[in-house]
Amino acid sequence: MSGKRDRCGDEPCAWCDRDGWACRFCGGTGWWRPEMPERDAAGALNWVRVDEPCRMCGNTGKEHNPLEGPVPA
Ligand SMILES: [Zn+2]
Ligand SMILES: [Zn+2]
Repeated sequence: MSGKRDRCGDEPCAWCDRDGWACRFCGGTGWWRPEMPERDAAGALNWVRVDEPCRMCGNTGKEHNPLEGPVPA
């Protein structure tokens, strides 16, 4: 497991400037662990857990798209 990034890459980004809003998708870790379907050699479907950088917060762990609430300018 790697760390998380300070910034999502969008500059300037008002969300990256904020603290205290944990990304609701990854819980603030910057990573999520979806289960992905994978077929083995026999053709059976298996679900494997993978670690991926959270796409919703750009791997920052900070909320970037709240459903409601004020949006910083
Ligand atoms: Zn950002
Ligand atoms: Zn996230």
